[in-house]
Amino acid sequence: MVHCPECKTTLSDESDIEFIETDAVSGFFKASKRFYIAECVDCGANLGSGVAGAKAGGGGAV
Ligand SMILES: [Zn+2]
Repeated sequence: MVHCPECKTTLSDESDIEFIETDAVSGFFKASKRFYIAECVDCGANLGSGVAGAKAGGGGAV
């Protein structure tokens, strides 16, 4: 179970988290990639983010 670091709301369900999908606005990301940001629906704190549908174009090591 996850708790919001800001407002301590218990985030036990997907509905408690707002997933914001951002398109490749800056051009930094390829159009085929989508960047997701998870926010607490209660206070809007950023809980994390990630890239979905992204495929390493080769040499994607960190
Ligand atoms: Zn919160």
